[in-house]
Amino acid sequence: MKTVRSLLVVGLFLLPAMLSVAAEMRFPPPDFQTDYKIPDLNSPAPVSSNGTRDAIILFIALSVTTWMVFKARSRRGLFIISIFSLAYFGFYRTGCICPVGSTQNVMAAVFLPDVGVSVAVLSFFVMPLLFSLFFGRVFCASVCPLGAIQELVAIAPIRISPALDRTLGLGRYVYLGLAVLGVATGSGFFICRWDPFVGIYRMGHSFGMLLAGGAILTLGIFVARPYCRFLCPYGIMLGWMSRFSKWHLDIPPSPCVKCRLCENSCPYNAINMPIPSHLVGDPEAGKRRIRRLVYVSPLIIAVGATLGYLSYEPLSRMHPKVALSERIAAENIGKLTTDTLETRTFRAGKQTVDELNAQAVQIREYFKTGGAWFGGFLALIICLKLIGLSTAPKRDIYTPNKETCFSCGRCYPYCPVEPLPKRS
Ligand code: SF4
Ligand code: SF4
Repeated sequence: MKTVRSLLVVGLFLLPAMLSVAAEMRFPPPDFQTDYKIPDLNSPAPVSSNGTRDAIILFIALSVTTWMVFKARSRRGLFIISIFSLAYFGFYRTGCICPVGSTQNVMAAVFLPDVGVSVAVLSFFVMPLLFSLFFGRVFCASVCPLGAIQELVAIAPIRISPALDRTLGLGRYVYLGLAVLGVATGSGFFICRWDPFVGIYRMGHSFGMLLAGGAILTLGIFVARPYCRFLCPYGIMLGWMSRFSKWHLDIPPSPCVKCRLCENSCPYNAINMPIPSHLVGDPEAGKRRIRRLVYVSPLIIAVGATLGYLSYEPLSRMHPKVALSERIAAENIGKLTTDTLETRTFRAGKQTVDELNAQAVQIREYFKTGGAWFGGFLALIICLKLIGLSTAPKRDIYTPNKETCFSCGRCYPYCPVEPLPKRS
C-alpha cells in the first residue's frame, strides 16, 4: 500500500510534464507537397510523434519495476521487464529516446544560447531521477535498455576487487566531463556518438561501434554491466539521487541473520558488509584525515584545472572543425596523401582555409576554459572519493549500497530470511 501511495506521489510530480508532452504533440508536422525525396537516415526518425506514448510507457515500466523490487521482490519479474525494455526501448525504438542520451539535450539547453529542450526529452531525463530519489535505481534494475542488454548477458559474473571497481568507476566521471565539454563547446553529443549498443539496436552503424558493442557484451558475460559501472554518465546522477532515496530495497525484508549467504551474490560489489566495532577506525583519526584532505583539496583541484587547461590542444581535436583544420593542413603540406569525405566536401565549398583556421583558433580558446573546468571537476571528484574513504562507519548487517546498487534483485534468492514463495 505504501509503495502504491508513493508511486501516486511520483505520478503527481510527473503529471504536468506528461500533459505538456501531450500538448506539445497535439499537432502533426506540416505535410508540404514537393518533389523532394527525404534521404534515408542513419539515425532513427525523430521521436516527436511517439513522445507522449514513450513517456507514458516509461512511467508504467518504472512503476511496475518499483512494485517488483519492493512488493513482489521477484528477480524473475524484473527479468521479464528487462526483456520488454530491450524489445521496446532497445530494438523497436532503436535506443532513442533514452534518458542516458537525454542528459546532453538538457546540457545543451543549459550551455548553448538559443537551444531548447522538448518536454518529451525533459521528462525522459527527469523521470528516472525522480524514481531514484524515491525508490533507488529502479530504472537501472530493468527499464534502461542499455542496462537490460548487459543484465541479460551477465551469465557467469565474477567479482572484481572493490578497489579496482572503484578505480575503473572513475571512468564514468571522465565520460560525463567529456560529454559536458562536448556539448558546451559545440563539439557534439558524445554519449550518443559513442553509445556502444546503438549499433546493435539499429542493426547497423559503423563497423567500429558494432565491434565495441560486441566487445562490451562479451566482457559483460564475466564482468557484469561494464558500461553501467565504468562508463555510464547518467548512472552517476542516478546514484547521487539514490543515495538520498526515501525507500530502498533491503536484502532481507526481515532482520538480517548474518548468515553471509548473500555476501558473494552481488557481482557489482554493491553490498555493504557489516563492520564490527573493533575494525572501525578511531573516529578522531578519521576526522583528522578528512580535515587534512579538505585543506589539501583546493591545491589538488588547482593542479587538475591546470592540467586540464594545458590539455586544450588534444581535447579540442574532438571538435569536428578543429579536426578538419588540422587534417587540411596535413594534406596541404603532404604529410597525409589521402583525402577524406570531409576534406573533399570542404574543398568543394566556398569557405577558405584561413577562415577555417580562424574558427579553429577560436574553438581552441573555448577548450582552454572548458579543459580547466574538466580537469578541476575530475580533481574534485577524486578529493570527494578520498574523503569518502576516510571513514568507515560501524555496520551491523548486510545492506545494499544505495548509490551503486542497481536494484537488480540478484541477491534476493540467496537470503534464507526471504519468504520462500518469493525466492525466485
Ligand atoms: S547505469 Fe546507465 S546504462 Fe546502466 S542501467 Fe543505469 S542508466 Fe542504464
Ligand atoms: S539488488 Fe543491489 S545489492 Fe542486490 S545483487 Fe543487485 S546490485 Fe547487488
